[in-house]
Amino acid sequence: MYRGRLAPTPTGYLHLGHARTFALAAQRAQAAQGQLIYRTEDLDAERCRPEFAVAALEDLRWLGLLWHEGPDVDGPHAPYTQSQRRGYFLKVWELLHAAGCIYPCDKSRQDVARALTAPHAEHDAEPIFPPSLRPPLGQGRDVTQPDGTNWRFRVPDGETIHFEDRLQGPQAFVAGKDFGDFLVWRKDGFPAYELAVVADDHAMGITEVVRGADLLLSTARQILLYRALGWPEPHWAHAPLVVDAQGRRLAKRTAGLSIRELRAQGRTPVEVLTVPVGTLLG
Ligand code: GLU
Repeated sequence: MYRGRLAPTPTGYLHLGHARTFALAAQRAQAAQGQLIYRTEDLDAERCRPEFAVAALEDLRWLGLLWHEGPDVDGPHAPYTQSQRRGYFLKVWELLHAAGCIYPCDKSRQDVARALTAPHAEHDAEPIFPPSLRPPLGQGRDVTQPDGTNWRFRVPDGETIHFEDRLQGPQAFVAGKDFGDFLVWRKDGFPAYELAVVADDHAMGITEVVRGADLLLSTARQILLYRALGWPEPHWAHAPLVVDAQGRRLAKRTAGLSIRELRAQGRTPVEVLTVPVGTLLG
């Protein structure tokens, strides 16, 4: 049985790019006669706001998307709001800790910047964590709970992570070159995105992950987590990013293009989902 998901992060109103990616996820679930799960990814307490979580549900309903499980309809994998799933994430931290593939890291952004000798990977805003700042193997083995410090996953330097993307074709990223040791737990006591998303996609039985192509590199990191946990990987389908007539990404310039603004301008759901972006920009 196909199980897909919509996983918005409520840091603002959803825009046209989200609308089109989420609609694609819904279409793929429907075409496969599968199920769609809605999950609110609100782990970043500083940037997420409950009113944006409510607005996202409303906007996606207005677009005509239908989901079978979610914060507003419940289901066998409740709760569907990540801030309420900390106990489960902690168990996944314990599994990674027992497997010996993560370590506590008290290095600041400045430490990382100072130790960097190579330029950053081009695909991603995050600098490669310098191996010289890694603690010796085994550090943190006697720790029983993660809070109070950041934890990183030790990537296998030089190994190429391959995957087949159902929309973008074959992909390859090199650990230690395209991405480095990444955060799995934050010192504020919550999991980092990569851990939370893998933990939940696994728990919720997701068979295909549909999301924007800006997350292709994250997929390489997430594959390492699936392997470390001994969990089967889902299929991957990264949607092309919505760009304007000049080829610029919309995520960065949402003025006038939030779903609610387009709706207020009298646009219909079909227009929001299909009309060329240039037309909507007026
Ligand atoms: N919550 C993430 C976002 O809104 C997407 C996560 C995912 O689809 O894996 O950017």
